[in-house]
Amino acid sequence: MRAQLLTAPGRQLAAAEVPPPQPGAGQVLLEVRACAVCRTDLHVVDGELPHPKLPLIPGHEIVGTVIENGKGADRFALGDRVGVPWLGWTCGVCDYCRGGRENLCDNARFTGYQIDGGYAELTVADQRYCFAIDPSFGDVEAAPLLCAGLIGYRTLRLAGDAQRLGIYGFGAAAHILAQVARYQGREVYAFTRPGDTAAQDFARGLGAAWAGNSDEKPPKPLDAALIFAPVGPLVPAALAATRKGGTVVCGGIHMSDIPAFPYRLLWEERVIRSVANLTRRDADEFLALAPAAGITTTTQTYPLAEANRALSDLRSGALQGAAVLVP
Ligand SMILES: [Zn+2]
Ligand SMILES: [Zn+2]
Repeated sequence: MRAQLLTAPGRQLAAAEVPPPQPGAGQVLLEVRACAVCRTDLHVVDGELPHPKLPLIPGHEIVGTVIENGKGADRFALGDRVGVPWLGWTCGVCDYCRGGRENLCDNARFTGYQIDGGYAELTVADQRYCFAIDPSFGDVEAAPLLCAGLIGYRTLRLAGDAQRLGIYGFGAAAHILAQVARYQGREVYAFTRPGDTAAQDFARGLGAAWAGNSDEKPPKPLDAALIFAPVGPLVPAALAATRKGGTVVCGGIHMSDIPAFPYRLLWEERVIRSVANLTRRDADEFLALAPAAGITTTTQTYPLAEANRALSDLRSGALQGAAVLVP
């Protein structure tokens, strides 16, 4: 089968012909219909996340059709369409797993990082970490729901019931969450790279009450802020825009260093926290909410062979919504 391979961090992906994967016990073999490109893929390719499997097939926002069941796999029928997210396997026995926080599992394995992912024609996945996708979504349209949507949803959940919600970095996750937030009756304040008026227009088109530059103050103080851009200086900027008792949630897996800032920005019970990974409960909740809320995704498709171009467009911000590879 054709795949895009990372052979060493810091290198471009290489097109390769590799043996088709075989589903092991409890696994399904999927024909990949679409795989969205996540910023985490960039961090893996750039070597900002340690110890990836090598060589590696990246990609953890996979929509595929079940074409073979491994031994004992009985959750899906042949022909079923499923989504495969970042969380690929957890141990079930560590304190975190037993405490309902499998996203923090000490032994977790992640799709497109420690497990081969969806930048390929075929992939295998543990059936317990696959999810049915509502038929109202097309394959390409559904792919960004699997991480931008899911981990984005967890990020939003950790912001509590904030009414005035700031979102820093208006990319794939933000464009989905803005719709969820509007559906929930919240006000969205979108912050983009300074001068990115196209992204600001995009945010207003999705119902943002205000859109501006990340170095601007919003017209009213925020109840909470979500940060999706991997830019440490946004943390003090978001704190300065957030009112007393508000929370700033960092939604990415990697960020440049956070600069020193005066304690008064944190004081008055402001909170900074991060989000790591997802639980299967997050996926069940979000994938039920997405059709009910009428979420639509904006995508730009690329043939599988052009994965490097998709990554470079994501890196330079030359994208609206999400990049999706189609084998
Ligand atoms: Zn565990
Ligand atoms: Zn992701």
